[in-house]
Amino acid sequence: MFRTHTCGALRIENKGQQVTLAGWVQKARKLGGMTFIDLRDRYGITQLVVEADAPADLVETATSLGREFVIQACGEVVERQAKNPKMPTGDIEIKVSAINILNKSVTPPFTIEEESDGGEDLRMKYRYLDLRRGPLQRALALRHKVAHEVRNYLDAKGFMEIETPYLIKSTPEGARDFVVPSRMNPGQFYALPQSPQTFKQLLMVAGYDRYFQIVRCFRDEDLRADRQPEFTQIDCEMSFVEQEDVLNTFEGMMRQMFKNALGVDIPGPLPRMSWYDAMDNYGSDKPDVRFGMKIHEITSLVQGCGFSVFDSAPYVGAIAVPGGAEYTRKQIDELTEWVKRPQVGAKGLVYVRCNADGSVKSSVDKFYTPEQLKAVADACEAQAGDLLLVLCGEKRKTQTQLGVLRIEMGNRLGLRDPKVFAPLWIVDFPLLEWDDETQRFYAMHHPFTAPKPEHEKWFYSNAKEDLERVCANAYDFVLNGSELGGGSIRIHNADMQKRMFEVLGIGPEEAELKFGFIINAFKFGAPPHGGLAFGFDRVCALMGGQDTIRDYIAFPKNNQGRDVMIDSPSEIDASQLEELQIALNPKAE
Ligand code: ASP
Repeated sequence: MFRTHTCGALRIENKGQQVTLAGWVQKARKLGGMTFIDLRDRYGITQLVVEADAPADLVETATSLGREFVIQACGEVVERQAKNPKMPTGDIEIKVSAINILNKSVTPPFTIEEESDGGEDLRMKYRYLDLRRGPLQRALALRHKVAHEVRNYLDAKGFMEIETPYLIKSTPEGARDFVVPSRMNPGQFYALPQSPQTFKQLLMVAGYDRYFQIVRCFRDEDLRADRQPEFTQIDCEMSFVEQEDVLNTFEGMMRQMFKNALGVDIPGPLPRMSWYDAMDNYGSDKPDVRFGMKIHEITSLVQGCGFSVFDSAPYVGAIAVPGGAEYTRKQIDELTEWVKRPQVGAKGLVYVRCNADGSVKSSVDKFYTPEQLKAVADACEAQAGDLLLVLCGEKRKTQTQLGVLRIEMGNRLGLRDPKVFAPLWIVDFPLLEWDDETQRFYAMHHPFTAPKPEHEKWFYSNAKEDLERVCANAYDFVLNGSELGGGSIRIHNADMQKRMFEVLGIGPEEAELKFGFIINAFKFGAPPHGGLAFGFDRVCALMGGQDTIRDYIAFPKNNQGRDVMIDSPSEIDASQLEELQIALNPKAE
């Protein structure tokens, strides 16, 4: 047998056994004639000892070992003198009788331990070495476990896993497409799917009433900690369902995943919050409900008192920061600068200190009596000792700014414990979103989302105010301030789909060209259907208590969308370009 055990398996119960292990030398050190070797594989680390009185050739081999050599070692399991309670194998060590060097290693560019001394760029370049480290191995193990739970759960519920193509025609989900030239069809391009949206709907038309797929999606967007150009979705669709059926099914999936992969109970049923309440109270469509500090509208309380900034604002809102009355002038000035950063975009910040003795002090004292300020504090449910932070401006924009400020204060006050999980559904999204710049409506979710049946009358109206009122049976699964998934009940009728494209300013010819296949399919008895997709990488990262999804992807790209390990993207041969009949713009060369 190549190995009798892994490097994470042996315990004191194995004392006296002859074993053979294989793995990587994490560390080898000499101590008074003895050589200690930490042998690692993905299951753990076991300490090997070569005694001072071992045969000379064995001592010599042990001495020659460098970091990351691959060896096979035989010996007896013995009880350790100095036990290491931090290691699962810490009660034992192997008294080595033979070492076989399976492969040498050049000195690795960084330490391959729990904490590495290598910077991000270096670790990305040698990703296969970084992947030997415990934190990454645990991340990928969690990912595997979660995927396994998804498949178990959905299989038990009668879902079929069906693959859909990667070389497709553009699926609009709001991002830019990656495109692939077609050699056999010169001058024409495939798009890589932003999601399998149209295919899963066509599968519903085809009668596969419960579909899922753990699937790669591609979006050419600017990258952030929780975004990669290629990422994985748990993509699902169901026929003959209402919103409630979808929510209940996937709430159950989430519960099983958390329970079986993480040992965490998610009590149910999950709270549901309308998009409007989320925006009004949390200034975000992905509220972190682990803490309060809700947004309160105080427009009517502060207008008409001579403070022109508030008087001319369509909306004034505030949050009460617990314990904030203690903040120094300097701290408040710093916060004022913070909200003025372009990422937040507020013009200024007004504060009201609710002192412990019941008095109030504010930056706009000269316009308001203490009674008026107390009424504002009461409206914001402020306690003695709190600090009110007030912003004003256009309603949704100001709420969003307050939402960003609320999250920042939550972070500063340590209210966002990654071990606490507070999931909820956001429901009743508006169907459409007006964009002032392009003077047109965009689908808030995507163009295949159906209006709520009771709002159809507005959907067919041409008045902007009517269209703005239309809500969809669209839903997002939100956890700790992150959107982990979202979906909707779909349009399943060709005429309604045509109307949707019309509302979105997509003319009949363009709609036919881009979406003729789906409009046509809807003419052949499309069942009512709906579904959703979860961002699998993000789900795993959040379960692992991390903000960045990179550690949960074996071979991710960096912030410039590059894989620095294989050095991609890269130029291609002139002959390949010629075959594709593609000429590069001289500027790009
Ligand atoms: N395709 C959608 C997305 O990627 C999810 C869905 O509507 O099912 O966001």
